[in-house]
Amino acid sequence: MSKEEQIIQNTEEDQEWADWLAPTRRGFLTGAGMTTAGLVIGNMEIEAQPFLSQERGDFRPIVPPADIGQSPWGYETYKEAASRPKGIRPGEENGLPKVPRAYTDIKSYHAHFYFDEDSYEKAALVRKWVIERFPVELGNWNLQPRGPHVTPSFYFGFTNDLIPIIIPWLQLNSLGLTILLHPNTSDPRADHLYYTLWVNRSQPVNAYGMPKSAAVEKIFPNIKPTIKLEAGA
Ligand code: ZN
Repeated sequence: MSKEEQIIQNTEEDQEWADWLAPTRRGFLTGAGMTTAGLVIGNMEIEAQPFLSQERGDFRPIVPPADIGQSPWGYETYKEAASRPKGIRPGEENGLPKVPRAYTDIKSYHAHFYFDEDSYEKAALVRKWVIERFPVELGNWNLQPRGPHVTPSFYFGFTNDLIPIIIPWLQLNSLGLTILLHPNTSDPRADHLYYTLWVNRSQPVNAYGMPKSAAVEKIFPNIKPTIKLEAGA
């Protein structure tokens, strides 16, 4: 389209809008309720025009009455001071940790795959690929929230020696699914909340109430791979 043609088209569009917003039209629009919140055109504001009751036929809004009783959340809550919670991250309960944690505290990992009614076929395909290729501990299909996992999921566990293979493999083969990688240490709560790696987006993990200290979860592989893992030179 040439510049001249563009200008002509713009002018036509401008005129069309001007027609739409002409005083007679504005009256029409107001009547139709398009300006109930007030419409500003240039410097001119058209008054909001609430419908008259007869224009709404038999329509009556249903407004529930306020409940009678006491709020379980207390009264004069607006007077509560804003206070700083204690440190909630591991090692920060009494200020910052003095020394880093030893990386050898991690004994194994879990990979939790999250899916929903739209993405379960992707989850099924990645799960099949995993079963064919990796000696992992494969868990059940969970079609409902389970433990700290708030959406349908399945998981597999793997030992530390597989980290340099599984992590890049999951990055390339996630099919866009949200995957939580968490280590297994003696602090399950931190494992799920603060020691995590995520493939793609993260999602909430309901682990705030998990124990801060427990026996380290062990991995017992239950899968024997049947396909040689694809690898380049
Ligand atoms: Zn887990």
